[in-house]
Amino acid sequence: MDPLPAPDARRYTALRLLSLSLFIGMHLGSLAVFWLGGTWADVALCVGLYGLRMFGITAGYHRYFAHRSYKTSRWFQFVLAWIGSMSIQKGVLWWAGLHRVHHRWSDTPRDLHSPVQRGLSYAHVGWIVSSEHDDTDMALIPDFAKYPELRWINTYYWVPALIMAAGCYAFDGARGLVWGAGLSTVLLWHGTFTINSLSHTWGSRRYETTDTSRNNFLLALITLGEGWHNNHHHYMNSANQGFFWWEVDVSYYVLRALAAVGVVRDLRKPPAHVLRPGLVAAATTRLAVVKAAAETHLAVAREAVGEVKAVAETRLAEAREAVESAVDDASAAETNATS
Ligand SMILES: [Zn+2]
Ligand SMILES: [Zn+2]
Repeated sequence: MDPLPAPDARRYTALRLLSLSLFIGMHLGSLAVFWLGGTWADVALCVGLYGLRMFGITAGYHRYFAHRSYKTSRWFQFVLAWIGSMSIQKGVLWWAGLHRVHHRWSDTPRDLHSPVQRGLSYAHVGWIVSSEHDDTDMALIPDFAKYPELRWINTYYWVPALIMAAGCYAFDGARGLVWGAGLSTVLLWHGTFTINSLSHTWGSRRYETTDTSRNNFLLALITLGEGWHNNHHHYMNSANQGFFWWEVDVSYYVLRALAAVGVVRDLRKPPAHVLRPGLVAAATTRLAVVKAAAETHLAVAREAVGEVKAVAETRLAEAREAVESAVDDASAAETNATS
């Protein structure tokens, strides 16, 4: 059974054109920074909105709504949905529901953004611009679809982005708009999209998951921790995706700070055995050594049994020969006696 709603052809074409126009228009519009110029405040606005909204996507859309890796209040979950919506990556319930599909069917034909199935560029941007599966399947996310305010922001996800854009304009006119709502959003898009494209193609694999997920330090830096994607596919319910101290995970540091002041709680952590891949590898090596030794012993024992069997068969043949000879002698003696 296909878990995704079937696309409507006419509506799909119209929405795809709209998405594509917005996508290309934002890229072209961002080039205006070259002739409008900017102040350090504009650069700070660009970087600040990138960081805030990346947090909204990684800690909100992803770790909270898709994976429920921590708990929070109803008002703060709405704040998370609001900040994530400012990134213009469609509705929170739509995104989180389809992300659950990604984990369930990773790198199979049912995975909407697998670079293995439909190529790198489709995994990077094609799937989200396409509008092929634009309807939200509430059955994929009934735990959050029950909140009316989340259903509202899922439909009107562009409202927070428009308010943000108005704020950028109020901050520094056209320059504020181009730096804060234009360039920052384009950088944010491509930063986020690397997780669906490059994090399934570029990096190392600590865990032998059934998908192509990778760990990548650089991607973890630009996505505030999402680059530890192989860790995440191995154990998806954890609030931290960097499992060790050297795996930088800024979203998790912020979540820890928010937990310290009581805004979020019950951050889930990976269990001990997940954190000891070295021990698992050592045990696997040891098992292989023991298995090889057992196989050698078995071969020696088989050889010895073979030798014993051969000797026994020789002795048996000799004994048979002796018995037959004795029988022959006895019959000859009997013949002599009667004659
Ligand atoms: Zn993935
Ligand atoms: Zn995930």
